[in-house]
Amino acid sequence: MNASKWVVDKSWTLFLDRDGVINVRFPGDYVKRVEDFEFLPGVKQAIAKFSSLFGRIVVVTNQQGIARGLYSHEDLKAIHDHMQSEIEKAGGKIDAVYYAPQRDSENSPMRKPGIGMALAAKKDFPEIDFSKSVMVGDSESDMVFGKSAGMRIVFLADEEIGVDIDERVDSLLEFAAKLR
Ligand SMILES: [Mg+2]
Repeated sequence: MNASKWVVDKSWTLFLDRDGVINVRFPGDYVKRVEDFEFLPGVKQAIAKFSSLFGRIVVVTNQQGIARGLYSHEDLKAIHDHMQSEIEKAGGKIDAVYYAPQRDSENSPMRKPGIGMALAAKKDFPEIDFSKSVMVGDSESDMVFGKSAGMRIVFLADEEIGVDIDERVDSLLEFAAKLR
């Protein structure tokens, strides 16, 4: 595990999963409205530090609850507006949020582990260099996504998976503490 040796500068991009990384994840359920969105401890502080190190921070999140009709694009926008404004109040900044509304069964390349959201970010921010990008997530699909795009991958979970991860942490704050 070697994140403490990485020399991150403004040419780097941080990709973050949302549920279970930024906010509390409800296994088998979804964040459907702003009131359901609860930041995990230390996340706002961690993102403030990341904002001082990385050139860009992008959120990439699978949201099949939209295809299932459990919440709308407008509901999700309200949740993300809330998330971004709370992060900004704490001194951090999320540059963009990408979400995949498709159902798992659609096998869309936009949905992680497909890399469609990474390619969409690169289209919007052509300066993104995947070899100078880090993906942080709490599921195997996040790790496959990051690895497939050529990023470094940080796993925020205890389980063993079939992907060669670069770093394992318990929280965003722990990852932030490893970076200079
Ligand atoms: Mg997650």
